[in-house]
Amino acid sequence: MSDQPEQRCQRCKRLGHEVPFEYCFTQESDQVCPEILNCWWERFDVRTCLADRLGKDVVKELESPRQQQPKILGLLELIEQAKKRQVKPSGE
Ligand code: SF4
Repeated sequence: MSDQPEQRCQRCKRLGHEVPFEYCFTQESDQVCPEILNCWWERFDVRTCLADRLGKDVVKELESPRQQQPKILGLLELIEQAKKRQVKPSGE
């Protein structure tokens, strides 16, 4: 049995089903999920693992206050981004 962190799985609170650790830093165009430290810290040394693979700057960014914003602010940002992506009807 492999003990590689990438092979470890747990239930994702966003998706509602099991995902391997690797998914958490390769999802959505190779972006790191902002929840990755909260989700995995009890399973193994996720900070060191990410620092080794992606660099210490990535871990610092994940620990920054912006990453720890309340869920409602994150949702509002997603809504704003979706509005900006909407295609305007022709003739306007
Ligand atoms: S880090 Fe993100 S994608 Fe991975 S289990 Fe947690 S919420 Fe799901």
